Amino acid sequence: MRLSRFFMPILRDTPKEAEIISHQLMLRAGMIRQESAGIYSWLPMGFKVLKRIEQIVREEQDRTGAIEVLMPTIQSADLWRKSGRYDAYGPEMLRIKDRGERDMLYGPTNEEMITDIFRQGVKSYKELPRNLYHIQWKFRDERRPRFGIMRGREFLMKDAYSFDLTAEAGKHSYNKMFVAYLRTFARMGLKAIPMRADTGPIGGDSSHEFLILADTGESAVFFDRDFYDMNWNEFSVDYDNVGDVAKVVGEFTSKYAASDEKHDTTEFEKRVSEAKRMSGRGIEIGHIFFFGDKYTKPLGCVVQGPTGEQIALQSGSYGIGVSRLAAAVIEASHDTAGIIWPMQVAPFQVGLINLKVGDAATDAACADLYAKLEKAGIDVLYDDTDERAGGKFATMDLIGLPFQLVVGPKGLKDGVVEVKTRAGGAKETMTAEAAVSKLVEAVKGKP
Ligand code: ATP
Ligand code: MG
Repeated sequence: MRLSRFFMPILRDTPKEAEIISHQLMLRAGMIRQESAGIYSWLPMGFKVLKRIEQIVREEQDRTGAIEVLMPTIQSADLWRKSGRYDAYGPEMLRIKDRGERDMLYGPTNEEMITDIFRQGVKSYKELPRNLYHIQWKFRDERRPRFGIMRGREFLMKDAYSFDLTAEAGKHSYNKMFVAYLRTFARMGLKAIPMRADTGPIGGDSSHEFLILADTGESAVFFDRDFYDMNWNEFSVDYDNVGDVAKVVGEFTSKYAASDEKHDTTEFEKRVSEAKRMSGRGIEIGHIFFFGDKYTKPLGCVVQGPTGEQIALQSGSYGIGVSRLAAAVIEASHDTAGIIWPMQVAPFQVGLINLKVGDAATDAACADLYAKLEKAGIDVLYDDTDERAGGKFATMDLIGLPFQLVVGPKGLKDGVVEVKTRAGGAKETMTAEAAVSKLVEAVKGKP
């Protein structure tokens, strides 16, 4: 993409209304624009990041065997009356009437609808287990929308729903999502600590929130220092292997980690030695929940079991804040100059800076590099504008692409260009050819 033809409304000054760094940087980098409280347009730069995050989430869900669907944003109130949540939900639910005076709502979540879909579509235990998910906009009329898209009113969520015959099988479905979440967040460069959360009527170990540490987080968190040394890499497990999956989950759940609502000081002190007791603040990016037959019973979601009896299914729901993640990644990865995108979610992988637009040799060298990188499948943002060099550098640092490729007449005279790595700021000069190989290898991996 040539910057001269792109749409990236950069702000030089920090907008006063933005209290936290991710909100400031998203506005400054021209990623989002507020339309009304907690409701945002995603401008091209932001939208590209959102799509990348969404795709990682999708790939990791698919890997577990979950199946993607798409349910509507607008729902009928009827189903919610059956589950009892229409009245219970409160003012966070945006309630609407259609022209026929029917009660409708903008979905804050989809347990009722998916349970009804499943009820109609599945009759026998032989069709279990299943996990259906979608990535769809939600609306919650939050009391205090704030921090930009971090706590929006309209936000993009991945929500998955598992259905099993027995609680034991349901536990495996839950554990698969647990591992998928670890993998998903690790791919975005995030260390998300699973913390036990409120479980409601089921009790036990059946709800976890995934939080990343950040000073601006809304929850206070308490955890074992050992989490820092955990294996956060893309560990691979065989999702069909119940024991394997449970083992990974056990490694994480055996260590103490809780957010303020579930924190128990006595237990913390008993289980974690003083030197290892950590506390701080965290941002919730995912939440998984096993709730048995809480929705399947009232909604009549039953199947015929092996001996002919009707059995209410065991289900769980699993949410990821897809749009919130864009902000969470920035909270975890930035410096005073701007954003530092991890490769996997970067809107473009390389920013190509032409230091002297109009100089024939520089223009030709840039055009050649641009074509070669694009041909290798790298997303390049080519700054071909006539802004002065200082401004171009500041903009590239602000938008945080993993690599900058700087081309000017001086270097070209010596036959070199400069490659800057945004994280850490290391600069290297090399031939244009070497730069292409280096960048292709860094983005695409060794050939
Ligand atoms: P919170 O405690 O932050 O209000 P929640 O527990 O109500 O969130 P869930 O119903 O668990 O949220 O939703 C699943 C995920 O959706 C959350 O883990 C979070 O990442 C994201 N999410 C929830 N509310 C918002 C919001 N208002 N704006 C952006 N993302 C949100
Ligand atoms: Mg939650």
